[in-house]
This record gives sequence, C-alpha cells and structure tokens, in this order.
Amino acid sequence: MDHCNLSARAPWVGLLYTRRNDDAPLADFPDPEHPYARVVCELAYGHGEEHADFLEEMDADLQVWVQWEGEHFTYICVRPCEMVDPTVDPVHQSACMLYAEHPPGHSWELADTPYD
Ligand SMILES: [Zn+2]
Ligand SMILES: [Zn+2]
Repeated sequence: MDHCNLSARAPWVGLLYTRRNDDAPLADFPDPEHPYARVVCELAYGHGEEHADFLEEMDADLQVWVQWEGEHFTYICVRPCEMVDPTVDPVHQSACMLYAEHPPGHSWELADTPYD
C-alpha cells in the first residue's frame, strides 16, 4: 500500500502574501519549493475525497491536522491513532502516526516513502 501523496498549495500561503507590503509579484514569494508552501496527503492511496496532512503535535495526545477537499481546507485537533500491528513482535512494533479513526491503511502499512 502506498501513500496518497496528493499535494496542494498550502492555504496559509495566501496569508503570507497579505502580510507583505510591497508589490512584488506573487510568484516570487514564498518560494514554491519551500516545504511549508505545500501540503501533502499522508493517508493511504485511494482513501477517498478528503485528504490530510499532519501539522503540529500539541501534546502526546493531541495533534493538529489539516484536511482538504479541492480548495476547501479544515483544521482538526485529534488524538493520534497509535495502533500497532498485532502480527509483529512487540519489540519491532511501531505506532501508527496518523490520526485516530483515519481511513483504512495505518502508517506502518504504507510502503513508499512519503512525499515521493
Ligand atoms: Zn489523500
Ligand atoms: Zn492508524
């Protein structure tokens, strides 16, 4: 199973533009190659319409994710999934890094490197 990896222009890029006071062309700022200029879906390929990217860990039990469908972005505060693969020796288990109740495909089931 691979990551969805659908990429979109980050919704906050528009805010960065409005804070800029000169008349520089929009294409010059911010650098479109900057990692924070885009969001990339971390869910499993074929998950459905609503894509999701991790933003921030508030504490051990609370994360902020951005979800988007087309041009519509939503921010959610959610618990981490933390499910482990029960078929793997506990020594080698790693917790799922997605949010609780995400669409099927835990992070440890995804074989490709994210953001490829
Ligand atoms: Zn997606
Ligand atoms: Zn999971």
